[in-house]
Amino acid sequence: MNTQHVREAVRSWLTANWDANLDLVEWRRLLADSGWGAPDWPSEYFGRDLKGPHSVIVDEELARVGAIGAAHSGVRMLAAVTLLAHGNHEQKRQYLRRILTGEDHWCQLFSEPGSGSDLAGASTRADLDGDEWIINGQKVWNTSAHHANYGLLIARSDWDEPKHKGLSYFILDMHQPGVEVRQLKQMNGHASFNEVFFTNARVPRANIIGTPGDGWQVAMTTLAYERRSFDRPRNPATKSPSAAPIYQQYQHELEIANEPYKWYPQRAGRVDLVLQRAKDTGAIDDPVIRQDIARLHILAQSASWTAQRARALQKAGKPQGPEGSLGKLAASHIGRLAARVHTNISANDALLTGSASPMNGTIAEILVSTPAGSIAGGTDEIQRNIIAERVLGLPKEPRFDTGPFRDVPRNSSATEQ
Ligand SMILES: Cc1cc2nc3c(=O)[nH]c(=O)nc-3n(C[C@H](O)[C@H](O)[C@H](O)COP(=O)(O)OP(=O)(O)OC[C@H]3O[C@@H](n4cnc5c(N)ncnc54)[C@H](O)[C@@H]3O)c2cc1C
Repeated sequence: MNTQHVREAVRSWLTANWDANLDLVEWRRLLADSGWGAPDWPSEYFGRDLKGPHSVIVDEELARVGAIGAAHSGVRMLAAVTLLAHGNHEQKRQYLRRILTGEDHWCQLFSEPGSGSDLAGASTRADLDGDEWIINGQKVWNTSAHHANYGLLIARSDWDEPKHKGLSYFILDMHQPGVEVRQLKQMNGHASFNEVFFTNARVPRANIIGTPGDGWQVAMTTLAYERRSFDRPRNPATKSPSAAPIYQQYQHELEIANEPYKWYPQRAGRVDLVLQRAKDTGAIDDPVIRQDIARLHILAQSASWTAQRARALQKAGKPQGPEGSLGKLAASHIGRLAARVHTNISANDALLTGSASPMNGTIAEILVSTPAGSIAGGTDEIQRNIIAERVLGLPKEPRFDTGPFRDVPRNSSATEQ
């Protein structure tokens, strides 16, 4: 199908089906079943098998008639790409449609107090008991876990295998006894994360993604997409041309989905504000600050070209290259530099919050939010290790963690054997 055929096909489908008087989920079910909610997914699983830049055309056509698209925001997209790559037929049929309709929220249950960078050192345990896995342990830094229906969980199912081989990847029902979610408050005042505690929580055998012991391979898929920012909210492209309830439902959904990400623009450093702030404060006349601003804009522009290249490859159906790690590293570098430039422009006032502070506290929020960019989704040091070992082919770090996981020296954990 060429682009013109795609445009005509989606346009005629919308003419026959789009109705602003439908309930949001009702409409999205139609959209998911038509395949136009995720045109690049397989047709067997709510897509249209379309490769190439067709989703842009579909988005344009949806926006043209004011129709709302599929629920593409948040961690649910990490769940979708992971299921598409590793899920079995039943799992894809059961979960992907409800991801597109927005009926289910998801969270990622990877990091633990003793294993963040060393994700393969996870010691939350999964023990098979008849037709169920019994889960015990703790996760931390789990974005959106407080309103998730399902969690993408990695847990240790075999303590006698080397650490990368004893992990399994599960779909965990968050609304069950034995799952306790506690919200954490960050230094920027937001509360996007949680600790999640498992006490004999249960996962049906059918909810394993891949096979027991395959969890690390599956997790690599999730992380590769996370580094490409698949879990970020999408900008609402749809205008609300009428007061029909469907638009209110959509706005409500966006508020919930975007809540944990409200500070993410500040986390990225707000390069967009720098020039205007320099002009407003007169700092634009300072030659040192001018140099910094120029350097920042050059870096930001070249990083955006790398990101565009990555998106073009992705749309052309090419495999993930090193752009994920390079882009993530560049983004945290830019965020840090932007925070420094903002501080130099605003001087002491950069520390102030409240209505009389620069930009109503936005500059202070940038300062306390940018450190997160160097940590989330794999720290800068870990990205450098990946680039060194997998892209440049440099020798691997020396390892002291081979052999059965139960014998590997590690941080203590109440759950280990
Ligand atoms: C904004 C944000 C969102 C997040 N969302 C989620 C989520 O939804 N779900 C989830 O499971 N987790 C989430 N996390 C957690 C995140 O993945 C971890 O914080 C991260 O992987 C780092 O782990 P850690 O905090 O345990 O630090 P550690 O691994 O203890 O690292 C401490 C320091 O040691 C360095 N270091 C560690 N190992 C090496 C090495 N081999 N070589 C060189 N240096 C090393 C690190 O770079 C770092 O500077 C989130 C974190 C943030 C900040």
